[in-house]
Amino acid sequence: MIPPDFSIMSNEDQGYEEIIRVIADIHCARGPARCEKCKEAAKERTPCLLRIYVNEGRVTRPVIELERDGQRFFMVFDVVKRFNSVQEARDYAEEYGVEDIEF
Ligand SMILES: [Zn+2]
Repeated sequence: MIPPDFSIMSNEDQGYEEIIRVIADIHCARGPARCEKCKEAAKERTPCLLRIYVNEGRVTRPVIELERDGQRFFMVFDVVKRFNSVQEARDYAEEYGVEDIEF
């Protein structure tokens, strides 16, 4: 389900928005429940620049739960960039105008 206001919040030509969240490392699509290497990777949590897709494609991607207008939605995303520190993430957000940040 796509939040009704996503067309306003996003660049419609591109169809995505970028946010920063601290997420667990991802090794592969199988996930920590089925893959030992994913279980190891999931112990590391780093701030990441995520690209949230407004129009969910057919490509299998991980999903993230986001709140918009008091409602929660699951959106597909790609990890665009991993930051080495929260400070690095903050600097990036400031430089590129990423407004939706959560640490
Ligand atoms: Zn894995």
